[in-house]
Amino acid sequence: MQEKHIPEETNPAQSNEPIDSRREFLKRFGLVGAAAAAGTAAIYTGYVFEKKKGKDEYITVLTADNKLVKVPKAQIEEVTIDKASLQSRGRVGLEGRRFVMVIDLAKCRNARKCIESCQEAHHLRPHEYHINTLKMQDSPTTAPYFMPKPCQHCDNPPCVSVCPVDATFKRQDGIVLIDNQRCIGCRFCMAACPYSARMFHWEEPLFTEEVNKKSLEYEELVKKGAGNTDLAQLLKKEITYDVELNTPQKKGTISKCLFSADRLRENKLPYCVSACPNGVFYFGDENEDAVTNGTTKETFVLSSLLKDNAGYRLMEELGTKPRIYYLPPKNRLFDVPEEDVNAIIPDPHA
Ligand code: SF4
Ligand code: SF4
Repeated sequence: MQEKHIPEETNPAQSNEPIDSRREFLKRFGLVGAAAAAGTAAIYTGYVFEKKKGKDEYITVLTADNKLVKVPKAQIEEVTIDKASLQSRGRVGLEGRRFVMVIDLAKCRNARKCIESCQEAHHLRPHEYHINTLKMQDSPTTAPYFMPKPCQHCDNPPCVSVCPVDATFKRQDGIVLIDNQRCIGCRFCMAACPYSARMFHWEEPLFTEEVNKKSLEYEELVKKGAGNTDLAQLLKKEITYDVELNTPQKKGTISKCLFSADRLRENKLPYCVSACPNGVFYFGDENEDAVTNGTTKETFVLSSLLKDNAGYRLMEELGTKPRIYYLPPKNRLFDVPEEDVNAIIPDPHA
């Protein structure tokens, strides 16, 4: 195919030399992805692509350094996000966001749907928790209640400062994640966490067998020269480690709540928040001072919700600055059924 040259006025780099290959062109603007969606604006691998109305041969592209450039549509090709890109975007997080969760202890009935949805999304066994509901009782004369407890995504996280290999880290959007490809399993972070929020993969993670099978299928396709088929790309995606989803996981490494970073990238609420049938969870952005209830989908002003309901954070005195707020278990209008109390599985990390 004959290569097209970029018209001078469309080239923000103002170079006098013609750009004579599409790879060089894309490289010059730092583009690693391409728009697959046609017609409307699309976000892909962190860049925004907007189709230019009336002129099908060019589309306008926002580059990584925030410049708008026109790109010949015919020279755009879709690429699979590779492991290195997944790792780097997973480390940086979503710009301009400060995610926050509110948990209303007055509403939790120990339905455990939050736990189930999280375990399913992250391929955890029934006794492995990123979030658990703990039975609490403040004094012998007060009613017991249940407290869902995930990682608190502390703004001053002791788990991060003790990690010797930078495997666990805090992102700009407030989420604390783990890169289990770097984790050496020393468990310093487990010891440092005052909330017992981390778990260790003592056994082979549930997903391992499935991943190994898919890896072999993918290798077979590559050997046959069919590495670019839809099936091959799907298999590749499923076996490539994604730091935001923390899968595939590894035996001998650490895991914990991820605030469903993969869902947040798609503008969706976390798995646990959406799964709760009792309106216990609110999730949102502190920068917008707004949180949405996962059950009713109503949005509230975060600061008012906390002020009006005496919101608090766990162990504030430690200075860890959690990003999870709790509303006290006041005015509980229902009893805790005896069978529910007996069914409580103790927190293995407590
Ligand atoms: S709750 Fe524990 S694991 Fe989570 S950020 Fe805080 S110290 Fe780290
Ligand atoms: S167990 Fe992994 S994440 Fe935790 S401190 Fe050690 S290397 Fe870092």
